[in-house]
Amino acid sequence: MQALFLIKEVNAVADCIFCKIVSKQIPSEVVYEDDQVFVFHDINPQAPTHLLVIPKEHIQSAAHVTEKDKELLGQMFVVIKNVTEKLGLDKEGYRIVNNCGELGGQQVDHLHFHVLGGRQMQWPPG
Ligand code: AMP
Ligand code: ZN
Repeated sequence: MQALFLIKEVNAVADCIFCKIVSKQIPSEVVYEDDQVFVFHDINPQAPTHLLVIPKEHIQSAAHVTEKDKELLGQMFVVIKNVTEKLGLDKEGYRIVNNCGELGGQQVDHLHFHVLGGRQMQWPPG
């Protein structure tokens, strides 16, 4: 059972486009990286600034976060604060979005926060 889980996990990472972006097998417009977190521009921007903030470690979605990820998630939010300040988004504000699972509209199965800025956001989201 444990071996089956490991094989599935290895395949998920091998097939994951964001893991390939982290390892630079696929190029991206990198904004920031440290040992835990990677930030790059979305390839199909939905706002004048559209960043994706991801953990370097493969976590499938917000629904797959566990106790061991507490510090990592805190670091992701510190990175969002620092990067948005650096890009000057903090004064006007911005939106942080996480799509989780099928009904949440998640297309890439590697946990990520969208950070959207530079235009007025609407509510409710579609
Ligand atoms: P989601 O629908 O929340 O899973 O968001 C996935 C996001 O990844 C979309 O906004 C895509 O435009 C973006 N995306 C997919 N492939 C790439 C890529 N190679 N480089 C940058 N962004 C990407
Ligand atoms: Zn991944």
